[in-house]
Amino acid sequence: MKTLFIYTGGTMGMQHTPEGLVPSIGVVEDALQQLYQSGEALGTYEIVTATPLIDSSAIEPSDWNWIGTQITDRYEQFDGFVVVHGTDTLAYTACALTFGLEGLDKPVIVTGSMVPLVDDNSDGQRNLQDAIIASNQAPAGVWVQFAGKRMHGARVRKNHSSALDAFFDAEASAPPRHEAADLKWRDYRAFNLPVITFVPGMSGQLINDCLSHADGLILRCYGAGTLPDKPEINQAIETAKQDRKPVIAVSTCAEGGIALDKYAPSARLMAGGVIDGKGATAAAAYVKLLYALSQNITDLTAFLAEPICGELG
Ligand code: ASP
Repeated sequence: MKTLFIYTGGTMGMQHTPEGLVPSIGVVEDALQQLYQSGEALGTYEIVTATPLIDSSAIEPSDWNWIGTQITDRYEQFDGFVVVHGTDTLAYTACALTFGLEGLDKPVIVTGSMVPLVDDNSDGQRNLQDAIIASNQAPAGVWVQFAGKRMHGARVRKNHSSALDAFFDAEASAPPRHEAADLKWRDYRAFNLPVITFVPGMSGQLINDCLSHADGLILRCYGAGTLPDKPEINQAIETAKQDRKPVIAVSTCAEGGIALDKYAPSARLMAGGVIDGKGATAAAAYVKLLYALSQNITDLTAFLAEPICGELG
């Protein structure tokens, strides 16, 4: 079995500096060499390293294009792929790879760690080792391997900011694979898609102002999909509809999704043409909308309402 490692940065390979943890070359490379030489990891591998290595808070859609292209360009030479990534935006990257890698029929495993490999109590070695096994054994698709769990690339979220078991994935209706006849990476382009969380007292004008600079919106509603009943908020939703700017509603709750036909305030969303994000995470809704706009998909409402890789739960 031959695995390609795509090293983008993140805590796993970071070193301590007076300014805090920073990505470094050599740490992940050494750990891999040690795992393969000692026989703890089986098979062979190659590694490609992003320039520069980043704290994943700096990730951009253009970085997803780089990762995706590394996989498709060298697809035939490897049996599986491991993306080493920072945990802060790992869920976004896993979603982006799940949607963007069409026709994938090999495993792509995204992993990282909460504690750097250079520290005694690091979870890096375990996650790396589990990711290598998963890259050989997991079903085709984009998976997140973390703290002994293999999770769905489009259903995962970072749930804890310090525990080693930091990720959680909600139930999925299908594997993390975007089916297509042939393998193809679909590039992401840059769009302004603010993710707005409703809070009591929020001014509707704020949403209107935001919308005037945006290509679409993701609304994180309360519970089953409710929102404050304010004329300016209703007006903003109406304006988005007139301007043909897509708006998706999701829930701030981690599980259960939304039910837009349950309460009167959410019925207003439906009347305003807001797309039902069902059980999608905010990350999945954001990345799917970015994907759809990047691919110039014309019937956005139909595309966003239908699951393509189990992302709606
Ligand atoms: N700030 C780090 C990153 O996302 C956190 C981590 O990797 O755990 O790159």
